[in-house]
Amino acid sequence: MPVLATRRVWAIVPAAGHGVRFAASTEGSAPKQYAPLHGATVLEWSLRALLGEPRVHAVVVALAADDTHWPGIAARLNSPKLQTTIGGVTRQETVANGLEFLATRAAADDWILVHDAARPCLNAADLEALLDAVGGDGAVLAAPIVDTVKRELGQRVATVDRQGLWRALTPQVFAFAQLRHALKEASLAGITVTDEAQAVERLGLRPALVQGSPFNVKITRVSDLSIAANILKMTEDTPMRVGQGFDVHAFGEGDHVILGGVRIAHPKGVVAHSDGDVVIHALCDAILGALGDGDIGRHFPDSDPRYRGADSRVFLRVVAARMQAAGLKLINADVTVLAEAPRIAAHCSAMAANLSADLGVSAQLINIKATTTERLGFIGRGEGLAALASVLLGA
Ligand code: MG
Repeated sequence: MPVLATRRVWAIVPAAGHGVRFAASTEGSAPKQYAPLHGATVLEWSLRALLGEPRVHAVVVALAADDTHWPGIAARLNSPKLQTTIGGVTRQETVANGLEFLATRAAADDWILVHDAARPCLNAADLEALLDAVGGDGAVLAAPIVDTVKRELGQRVATVDRQGLWRALTPQVFAFAQLRHALKEASLAGITVTDEAQAVERLGLRPALVQGSPFNVKITRVSDLSIAANILKMTEDTPMRVGQGFDVHAFGEGDHVILGGVRIAHPKGVVAHSDGDVVIHALCDAILGALGDGDIGRHFPDSDPRYRGADSRVFLRVVAARMQAAGLKLINADVTVLAEAPRIAAHCSAMAANLSADLGVSAQLINIKATTTERLGFIGRGEGLAALASVLLGA
């Protein structure tokens, strides 16, 4: 075989298992690699990390001969890096079949990366670290044993010294010729290895142990699926959207102002087409801004007679529905009222209660505060009042 100057990385994912124990526990449903997990299947998650690493040249998925699940997954992943071959009865045989498939494609010293089909939580940083660390005798992702380890010995129980003990994870990486030779030797000796490193170690080689995340869990039992789902949820990027709003109304005829849906007695009213609630107007603009959905004037134009004297809480409820339709919810809102008068401190909690009811969130997520402008400017001269709002939205 030709020795290439650049050593490519080929991944093999043994996915031929029928998962008899797992399938039995789920009343005859799909093998574990095809179990639904966080909007995809276990195997899709296991493959995504490999497909996302630029140094991985191709990913060979070794399937059962009677597999019916793969075409749908291949269509969804839609990656030119994916190739398939038929696996064997045991994992060892399946990996060997993957190596035979690559025999005419990979160079003797290309790297072969083997990853369990049922390890869906491999993170990109661990994969990078493994590929950075791989050297002559290969490398294995592993996690140090932190628990005290017991061995059951008939009538006795013994404590095993955990010094130097690791749990072997996957991926594991070895040179093509090295791994092929090691697996053949193990088979000839009648030894069934539980991971590829075991076959390589038998030959007196010493793969590097690269510390990986303990979240790189293996799906063995049905209950492992909810652990994996929570890990995936925790580590995925959550979309966050920030928005700001500002509103001003001039004082005019009247005997009250409405702020945050609360009627507050005042010797003046506000000049406005609607009820002139600057708190709600600023908050609506902040949410619409975070949604990238224009502003309050676009959704509720003041030229529209329907909004004459309108209760602004109606606007807020419409904006809340748009936020929900976009799949986002309020993480928090911070509102500042700018006014010399009226004093609003006594009304802040009633305002927060109104806003939280309209937005369908806890009042604790909404902070309302007030300041004067030290008698400066139009607010300081008592000609009007204003409000500023900032919001953070998340999935
Ligand atoms: Mg306004």
